[in-house]
Parts: sequence; structure tokens; C-alpha cells
Amino acid sequence: MEHTKCLIIGSGPAGYTAAIYAGRANLQPIEYCGLQTGGQLTQTTIVENFPGYPEGVDANQMMMELREQAERFGADIRDGVVTAADLSKRPYIVTIDDGTQIEADTIIIATGASAKYLGLPDEQKYNGMGVSACATCDGFFYRKKVVAVVGGGDTACEEASYLANLCTKVYMIVRKPYLRASDIMRRRVEENPKIEILYEHNTEGLYGDNGVEGAHLVARRGEADERHYDLPIDGFFLAIGHKPNTDEFRGQIDMDEQGYIKTLGASPCTNVEGIFAAGDCADPTYRQAIVAAGSGCKAALEAERYLNR
Ligand code: FAD
Repeated sequence: MEHTKCLIIGSGPAGYTAAIYAGRANLQPIEYCGLQTGGQLTQTTIVENFPGYPEGVDANQMMMELREQAERFGADIRDGVVTAADLSKRPYIVTIDDGTQIEADTIIIATGASAKYLGLPDEQKYNGMGVSACATCDGFFYRKKVVAVVGGGDTACEEASYLANLCTKVYMIVRKPYLRASDIMRRRVEENPKIEILYEHNTEGLYGDNGVEGAHLVARRGEADERHYDLPIDGFFLAIGHKPNTDEFRGQIDMDEQGYIKTLGASPCTNVEGIFAAGDCADPTYRQAIVAAGSGCKAALEAERYLNR
């Protein structure tokens, strides 16, 4: 069985940054990219908030350059999806979808998290053309425009408040007759004059010839009281949660109830020695590329320290 000192799972900003640091530390890391080589940023066009690019940067280009940088320092970057892991004893054993098994002294899990969507075909159709699952990432493109945020929890309230600072009007589309958010977040959106909460509403579809121009909504108050109408908007933001891509490690490593890997304090260390978690798979709060890259750096430094001990 092939053996490595450091196995990195995932090829987003966290995984590639971990590979750069582990490579420079001469750990000769092996990295598996998963189904989405380059990670979530490959779903977008321009990244405007990654430090170092005053004019913004093409997201795919940035991810390819991160990969090149890691390869320059000896990272062995491969296609393949991790389908199983045995973290019960050292060295740890990981199985790849082609049947390969790798024995690793340390593992950096950087598998990211995927935004949840409603499952409407129009979300795919308008992805990147008015549909977004990240207000911090895309809000700036909707300055002085009208947008809708789907969801009624804390995240939705936070996204709506963030967008209200940029947009002329923010609708919140809420399935229930109330918000699930904490009191403070609920009050923040209720008291914001730019935010209008549409309770007991569902989205049936989106329309527009050049990107999103509106949403087909249904307001339901019991079966007898149902009203279908169109709401003109420029942007449609999903805020109904994320799912961390951590199923392969479930039951073997501490996670919260949503499946985010728990790390010890601000470190990338998990409850299993030699196993580190970086990026969105361990970050229910920030979910930004620069934060993921920073935690990938921390994970590689911790892996090196662990191997030296
Ligand atoms: P990801 O980028 O999600 O990468 C996860 C990696 O793990 C992928 O390569 C995947 O293939 C791999 N993987 C998953 N499971 C397995 C497995 N079982 N085996 C092997 N590999 C696996 N952030 C910003 O800072 N600025 C922006 O402008 C911005 N825009 C965004 C636009 C969109 C549309 C989206 C969706 C997100 C955006 N973000 C932005 C958020 C940013 O993309 C994420 O915070 C960041 O990519 C997280 O990095 P990560 O490395 O943790 O995970």
C-alpha cells in the first residue's frame, strides 16, 4: 500500500494552501481533488475580495495558479474522490473511488461545504446570473438593486441585513409564518426599513431573459387562501443552510449536529491525533476563500509539528 506523510483531501483554497505549505516543509504531500477540482470558487467568475488583486481575479485562474504553486513545491495532486477512511489506528487508511488505498501519517481534511438549494431547475439555469448562495461574495454586484433572500433563520437574517447595506430593497422569502432566527437577528431585520419579510411564501420559479428579473411566488395561508404572483427582483440569494462534505468521516471524528468538523479552539486540530480540518468543512461561520486558505496554512504547519514530535 502506498504511504504518505501527509494526505490532503480537497482542492479548494484550503487544500491547495495546505499543499503549498506541506510541500515547502518537504512533507511530499499527496492531494486528492474530489469531484470539484479547484473547489467552490470554480462556480463563480471574478473574485473581488481575495487580498492581492486590486482589479479582482478570475476565480478559475486563481485556483489553477494555487495548484501550480503547490506542484512547484512537490505536491502530488491527483484526481479522485475519497470514499472511506479508517481513522481508528495509525497510520490512517483512506480509500479512493478507483479502489486505491493510501496509508497516511497525517490527514488534512479540506472537503468544503455545499450550499443547499431549493431544488428548482431555475436555480441551475440562472446560477451566476442572478442566483447566489453567498451575500458576502456576490452582494457587491447588486448595489442599488432589488434582491430577495430565501430563508428564515439566523443566516438568512444576517444575509438580508448585509444586503440591505448595499441594495435599495431586500425581500425575505420565508416559508413559515415566523422567523426561526434568534431574537436579536429577528429584530434587526424587522426594524430595517429596507427589508420586507414575506411570510408564508414559497418560490415556484424564476424568470428573466438576461439573468434573473423576477421570481414566481406563491403566498399560502391554508389551502383555501393561495395567491400566485410575480415579484420583480435582480438577485435571488439562498440562505437555507450549507451541508459540510464530511460524510466519509462521520462517527470517527467529532462533528457538530450539522456535520461540521469540530476543531480545538482556533487551531485546525481535531480530536483525533494527526487529523486536521481546514476551510469550510470546519467553519460554519465565515465560509470565505481567504479564511479557508489561512486555515489550510495552519493545518499544514500543525501536520509538520505533529510529524516532528
Ligand atoms: P471548497 O472550495 O468547497 O473545496 C472543497 C474541495 O474538496 C473540492 O475540491 C472538492 O472536490 C473536494 N472534496 C469534497 N469531498 C471530497 C472527497 N470525498 N474526496 C476528495 N475531495 C473532496 N469566497 C470568497 O472569499 N470570495 C468570493 O467572491 C466568493 N465567491 C463565491 C461564489 C460562489 C458561487 C460560491 C459557491 C462560493 C464563493 N465563495 C467566495 C466562498 C468560497 O468559495 C469558499 O469559502 C471556499 O472555496 C472554501 O474553500 P475550501 O477549500 O474550504 O472548500
